[in-house]
Amino acid sequence: MAHLAAAWAEAVTAGDRDRFDRVWTGSPERLMLLWDNLAGLGLSSFAVAGEPTLDDPRTAQLRVQWQVPGDRAPASHLLGVPVSGRGSDARLDVGTRAEVGAGPYPLWWLEPVRTSTADGVRVISGAPGPLADTVAATAATSLAEAVRLTGRHSRGVVLELPSTPQLMDRVLGDDRGSTGQIGALTWPAGPRVTEAPLRIVLNPLAMAADDEARRALLTHEITHVLTAAPERGVPLWVAEGYAELVAHDHDPDAGWRSAEPFLALLREGRSEPAPPGDDAFLGSELEVAYGQAWTLCRWLLEQSSWERVNHWYAALGEGAAMDDALQELCGRDLTGVQAGWQQWLSERIEER
Ligand SMILES: [Zn+2]
Repeated sequence: MAHLAAAWAEAVTAGDRDRFDRVWTGSPERLMLLWDNLAGLGLSSFAVAGEPTLDDPRTAQLRVQWQVPGDRAPASHLLGVPVSGRGSDARLDVGTRAEVGAGPYPLWWLEPVRTSTADGVRVISGAPGPLADTVAATAATSLAEAVRLTGRHSRGVVLELPSTPQLMDRVLGDDRGSTGQIGALTWPAGPRVTEAPLRIVLNPLAMAADDEARRALLTHEITHVLTAAPERGVPLWVAEGYAELVAHDHDPDAGWRSAEPFLALLREGRSEPAPPGDDAFLGSELEVAYGQAWTLCRWLLEQSSWERVNHWYAALGEGAAMDDALQELCGRDLTGVQAGWQQWLSERIEER
């Protein structure tokens, strides 16, 4: 397998279609699709290695590492590819390729893709029509805004836009089909979470929504990329609340609207006067958790400034204790912050 893996990588890197055709066999349409996809990605690196196959000697396990401009490192995917023929006649077979398990798969393995770029952003898209260009333009606006507010440096942002929510599940390696229900996700595209490039995987249904919702969603996810979340030491309520804070800065009313499930509980006297735990962002009440996190971060911002909130976030990411970091931010520990936040919320509810 090793010589096929190496020859595939060399063919792609050299742009050598003849060589590619000596590595791969299968239906001409699928071969053309795979070649065109890889040739159109603008790859900055492409490497393939054969990994030992567990039980099936006719399937090559190929570790594909591929990087596009904007990635901090190559994405890494494991593909199970059938092998036809033997010895020097052996070929990777795209015609009967078996997609073993749920993935994650590179989008270029699943459907025809094209690339749209705008200032600092690159969208790898399987969605037909102008959606990819719209997403690229909005993401560029979101990136500029997130860089300005967070004070973080950007090396570029890479987004993947599958044509369907089902393909979103496969890009994310989710065999339960649940990620296709969320709007977007920032995730490490490889097995080593701390090294893999952070890519933003988008739900095409959410991206086809109104401009304002698309902008807020993209700004939220881009903030995660800029802060390289998830980070050790930053609780989820901080990471999510901060991303929401950036996303809704130009329109806080939209933030209040999305906090409505939490405010409803508050009016009924059924909400916890404490920040949500990490589990709350995984459960069925996650809208409530986002509302709690955003209002808490919003309160902190109104007590201080963007500069101080950014400093607080960075200090937590470097391991500072929550009480110490909050004292530096606003002169209160967590208990004091909760009291101030709850007081502010109850005034807000009475106003309405
Ligand atoms: Zn988030």
